[in-house]
Amino acid sequence: MGRPLSRLRCIDCGRDYPLDEIRYECDACSALLEVAHDFDRLQEARDGPAWRRLFDTRLGETSGTARSGVWRYHELVLPDLPSGHVVTKPEGNTNLYPSERLQEISRTRDVRIKHEGENPTLSFKDRGMSAGVSWARHLGVQQVACASTGDTSAAMAAYAAQVEGMRGVVVLPKDKVSMEQLSQPIASGCLTVSLPTDFDACIRLLRDVCRRHSIYLLNSVNPVRIEGQKSIAYETVQQLNWEPPDWMVVPVGNAGNISAIGKGLADLKTLGIIDRLPRLLGAQPEAAAPLARAHQEGYREHVRVKAGDTVATAIRIGDPVSYDKAVRAVRASNGAFISSSEQEIMDAKALVDRTGLYICPNSATAVAGFLKAREQGMIASGERVVIVATAHGCKFSQATIDYHGARLPGIAPRFANRVVEIAADAGAIERLLVPGVPGFSLRKDGE
Ligand SMILES: *Cc1c(COP(=O)(O)O)cnc(C)c1O
Ligand SMILES: [Zn+2]
Repeated sequence: MGRPLSRLRCIDCGRDYPLDEIRYECDACSALLEVAHDFDRLQEARDGPAWRRLFDTRLGETSGTARSGVWRYHELVLPDLPSGHVVTKPEGNTNLYPSERLQEISRTRDVRIKHEGENPTLSFKDRGMSAGVSWARHLGVQQVACASTGDTSAAMAAYAAQVEGMRGVVVLPKDKVSMEQLSQPIASGCLTVSLPTDFDACIRLLRDVCRRHSIYLLNSVNPVRIEGQKSIAYETVQQLNWEPPDWMVVPVGNAGNISAIGKGLADLKTLGIIDRLPRLLGAQPEAAAPLARAHQEGYREHVRVKAGDTVATAIRIGDPVSYDKAVRAVRASNGAFISSSEQEIMDAKALVDRTGLYICPNSATAVAGFLKAREQGMIASGERVVIVATAHGCKFSQATIDYHGARLPGIAPRFANRVVEIAADAGAIERLLVPGVPGFSLRKDGE
């Protein structure tokens, strides 16, 4: 094998380590690590237009790893990973939907939703896990683990299940993930552990155990996962014919995803694939908004909060692991963090859901953040905006049902679509549907 194309590098002191060493922080200063590719060699290999052509050619693949929306960009994700070690379903290739409804109500020229809920386990986490589990397999790791607000564990479990001899362990905060999410690692055969605490405590405990034993931690503190998640940015820009949008809006919990998207966009610019960077807007619920507060305070100090209850359970995180990476990515893009109330989040969700896209409350936090940023004038009417929907609404069915049934405490649903209960006879259905029938009464809630 030749000289490796990637190393692990400390984001603070710059010290570097071989990528095939299992480590999650810098020995010298304890800061986070990132995967650093040798961009000189990647630039020598091809110029920007040639990279674009290569990735466009692969869009036609019907078999093999290049069919995946992660591994289509293999050279920019994990160039040292042999194709034969890739663990894929395949993932990615999610739709980028124009949203006329959002354009109309926000009076914005071009608004699109990148629906990552269309991934195999119904969230964007599949992209990072495909990279993380592939690398684990490459290293010959036998035990992989993660703490999760629900979607990370669903993805890890489903990818680990594809590798012979690999055992998955997931640690979940009790009663803080949805039933659908809980069912996923159980179904995939993972050891599923429930702790009577919150996510922040779960990850702290698990990180400690993984540091002391040879268990491969697949939370987003693992920089290899970030490499897979970068592909959201690559794919979005490719779907826009390599014309980057003005803004990308992303819901933020542990802040790995927004860091990854920022890193992916920077890769494209470095390689001459795009010539300018979109601005990043990170969206949080008011109940768990350390980064929105930090932004407001000019990033003077590192903000940690105790996360409160929110419908956006996947981003109910008060002490984001990738805080420093996210702040750097957002500031480098001249972006911002913003927060929204529970009411704003659920109304935004209903608005988008009604157009036939079914998104989750976490994704809706990004929609609400976009609407607010537009109202404040941060985003201008002529700009092109991509909102990243991170998971499918079907993973959070209870929140949807409770909203439309007006059963969410403190929320008066503006767009409720109530279930109509009537007697089990044809007459009752006719009275509901057919104008002119005696007793006709068409109920239209929320119009
Ligand atoms: C994990 C997750 C997020 C947050 O991503 P981070 O990388 O933790 O910021 C947002 N939405 C959904 C649905 C998720 O599963
Ligand atoms: Zn360091």
